[in-house]
Amino acid sequence: MATKLLLTFAICRLIVTVGLTVDPSELLRLGVEGQLSVDPSDVETASLDFGLLSRVEPMAVLHPGSADDIAQLVRAAYLSTPGFTVSARGHGHSINGQAQTSNGVVIEMSGGSRGSHVGLGKLGRPQVAVKEMHVDVWGGELWVDVLRSTLEHGLAPKSWTDYLYLSVGGTLSNGGISGQAFNHGPQISNVYELDVVTGKGELLTCSEENNSELFHAVLGGLGQFGIITRARIALELAPQRVRWIRVLYSNFATFTRDQENLISLHRNSSSLKFDYVEGFVIVDEGLINNWRSSFFSPRNPVKISSIGADGGVLYCLEITKNYDESTSDTIDQEVEALMKKLNFIPSSVFTTDLPYIDFLDRVHKAELKLRAKGLWEVPHPWLNLFVPKSRIADFDKGVFKGILGHNKTSGPILIYPMNKNKWDQRNSVVTPDEDVFYLVALLRSALDDGEETQSLEYLTQQNRKILRFCDDAGIKVKQYLPHYTTQEEWMDHFGDNWDQFNQRKMEFDPRRILATGQRIFNPSF
Ligand code: FAD
Repeated sequence: MATKLLLTFAICRLIVTVGLTVDPSELLRLGVEGQLSVDPSDVETASLDFGLLSRVEPMAVLHPGSADDIAQLVRAAYLSTPGFTVSARGHGHSINGQAQTSNGVVIEMSGGSRGSHVGLGKLGRPQVAVKEMHVDVWGGELWVDVLRSTLEHGLAPKSWTDYLYLSVGGTLSNGGISGQAFNHGPQISNVYELDVVTGKGELLTCSEENNSELFHAVLGGLGQFGIITRARIALELAPQRVRWIRVLYSNFATFTRDQENLISLHRNSSSLKFDYVEGFVIVDEGLINNWRSSFFSPRNPVKISSIGADGGVLYCLEITKNYDESTSDTIDQEVEALMKKLNFIPSSVFTTDLPYIDFLDRVHKAELKLRAKGLWEVPHPWLNLFVPKSRIADFDKGVFKGILGHNKTSGPILIYPMNKNKWDQRNSVVTPDEDVFYLVALLRSALDDGEETQSLEYLTQQNRKILRFCDDAGIKVKQYLPHYTTQEEWMDHFGDNWDQFNQRKMEFDPRRILATGQRIFNPSF
């Protein structure tokens, strides 16, 4: 009780001092479970993200001790005059300041001490319900910790992102996709229940059955409707090992035909299929050894020039088959049967075999290498697009073989298809209006090494050029992890879904105080 009062006191001080006359030493002395901090290092951390493209300082940072701390803070922001904004920050892995705010408080959802009773009841670390096959997790939990906890019970979530050092609330606010999405849908299709603090400061439990409008609004809702404090995530039996295969194509039509055939196999639940289907584009020699493809080297060196790529571009299909040690005698035949149906360049098969956790955590290894070289904390002008299947060949011609040319592309270019019927249309995220669409992810790092084509300015210009090309060619792409700066652009992004998005905002965050870093709505003060 005393801690609650202290937190309330801190919030009141903050409101009174919106003009930024907060006395940091006073806030420092707060003995609250949740700590409201104006420590310069906390403020600095919250003012940056992985993109390193924008820097916005919040007035203060809340390290919550419970979901109630968050509800109290948001309620204070909602009820006060003139009010202030509140942005949840997952692990700060946005690109364009989506978790930042200038005239309010950032809530650090991940890391730090969470006390013992975050969420409903006494939820601390992930709580696995083995019989029900689900796990309850704090909204700021990192996926890598969710995985570690569930593996203790031989279980694992079904749908992933390529990188696990992202927060549950952060990916559920976007979608959460990887090579399993064709089969299981995105992460937002694998959630049973949420606890959410709305923009009015109410802490509500929601699901398909209970407060369903809020549930669907929040999933893929870019943080606009509430702050996820607990998520109940679907689990499956965790496989023990993964056979991981990469094969190359020089012909784009053959490559996409194979990818599309592979993702269509999900329709028959008994049919043999791969568990993960992704792919990437190789437009220059540099890329073959980049952070996503270290797999090829040094034992398996590949040279584009030695393969005779069509238009200088190669395509790599990346597939996996999960298995258990008890069935390891059949894995070779299963993989062989599936591979027989593919039309890759015969001499280009690269195979490895590893524990399931090592496969899922693969990008972290690359992160450590890049960090060691000082290449992780650089600006990341990423562009992620959903491209309709009917226009993916035009995209290839205009972008991979056109705009990108043979310049160094500064990072991996992922390309893989997904089935729209695995995306719940009641959720907030928007996808192209076709049964199958591709993710094309240009995951670029800008370098200050004097080479023009690696510079932030050049890459940003190139992103604009790609979007303009799509517009001019009538390719109806949707941005994933979208970034726009005007409401008109957002209305265009949401299209027919804008009215619903706007209505949900009026209902769940009427003062428009949440996640203003997305720049969709302006706060009403
Ligand atoms: P943040 O960047 O901190 O927040 C993102 C948005 O969500 C903000 O608007 C924030 O206010 C809001 N938010 C955060 N927490 C909550 C919460 N608890 N409740 C409500 N709103 C909240 N994405 C994929 O789908 N697939 C991938 O394979 C993938 N790989 C990635 C690899 C790397 C190296 C990086 C940097 C990102 C990758 N992403 C991927 C993108 C990732 O999904 C987004 O960055 C996402 O925002 C999650 O990051 P975060 O948890 O740090 O959230």
